Amino acid sequence: MRIAVLAGDGIGPEITAQAVRVLEALGRDGLELAIERAPVGGAGYDAAGDPLPEATLKVAERADAILFGSVGGPKYDALPRAKRPEQGLLRLRKHFDLFANLRPAIVYPELAHASTLKDEVVAGLDLLILRELTSDIYFGQPRGVRVNENGEREGFDTMRYTEGEIRRIAVLAFETARRRRRRVCSVDKANVLETTQFWRDVVAEVHAEYRDVELVHMYVDNAAMQLVRNPKQFDVIVTGNMFGDILSDEASMLTGSIGMLPSASLNARGFGLYEPIHGSAPDIAGRDVANPLATILSAAMLLRHSFGNEAGAHRIERAVRKVLAQGYRTADIAEPGKRTVGTKEMGDAVLAAL
Ligand code: NAD
Repeated sequence: MRIAVLAGDGIGPEITAQAVRVLEALGRDGLELAIERAPVGGAGYDAAGDPLPEATLKVAERADAILFGSVGGPKYDALPRAKRPEQGLLRLRKHFDLFANLRPAIVYPELAHASTLKDEVVAGLDLLILRELTSDIYFGQPRGVRVNENGEREGFDTMRYTEGEIRRIAVLAFETARRRRRRVCSVDKANVLETTQFWRDVVAEVHAEYRDVELVHMYVDNAAMQLVRNPKQFDVIVTGNMFGDILSDEASMLTGSIGMLPSASLNARGFGLYEPIHGSAPDIAGRDVANPLATILSAAMLLRHSFGNEAGAHRIERAVRKVLAQGYRTADIAEPGKRTVGTKEMGDAVLAAL
């Protein structure tokens, strides 16, 4: 397994270091690992004047998967757009055609208190949002601001999905649901938007090959409401780029703990970029206080989705559950007044639990 580790900026190096220790521990149990590190984001700019240096792209191309930390920081805020750290991530997504974004939202029973919702609404929550990442109104042409026939200025964008784009994300949704609780909810606005009626039709066609998985369709306004009313009704939610952008942030906040949530962005070959959903947290960088669990759980997703190594993924996830049950907490997930551990100590605890 060739893994490119792109740690990035801020807390990125601290949290990826712990995830790499976990992968290496599995390596000692027979997993063959080749890890190559390269700078990205602000670190890429510092090293080579580019947030995605040519040499870093080569490292990523040689790999089977990317473990990504986080990019950005105040030091780079004044750079021109093309040199900004986030361009490193956006260019990687485009280069590898990472069309599917998977974001699990899991509420561990021990952390249900961190949610702004009532414990009984979220305790035990385990849902996955699958967001299409490379099409929709965010990329559709034409777009712009023009003067219309009445001489008034107007802005316009184009919502667009091809059949192939819908099919490939639908297939992934059903395949993923087969490894979970076999339920897919496809979210659209078919009552108003032609493109999303088409989305609904194509998802239903693909479903014909996955009769063992239950499919329901839901309008996006209702989905936004159901996510806070009764989120445990969902298993896999699949949706387009714009609705997914909004619903995935809503779902992640159900858990209340940004330092716990991993993500994956995949292409059609199963190549993926795995990263925590949080940013580079410059306010706590370099102080050994960041929570490394989102990145460690991203490493579990990497084993599952890029290497089909369900056993390895499970081992990591079980170890994380165990350290939480044992009471280990970094500051971001601790109850007030309780003892906390640092980034490295949390990594030590996960290794011990493995
Ligand atoms: P952020 O996610 O970095 O931080 C938000 C808050 O959450 C901060 O208080 C931070 O200390 C805390 N936090 C985040 N991760 C944590 C962790 N693992 N453990 C404990 N606490 C944690 O978001 P922000 O402050 O809006 O952005 C900071 C920088 O990160 C910006 O430069 C932004 O552009 C960048 N960013 C990068 C990514 C990415 O690399 N994918 C994503 C979002 C933001």
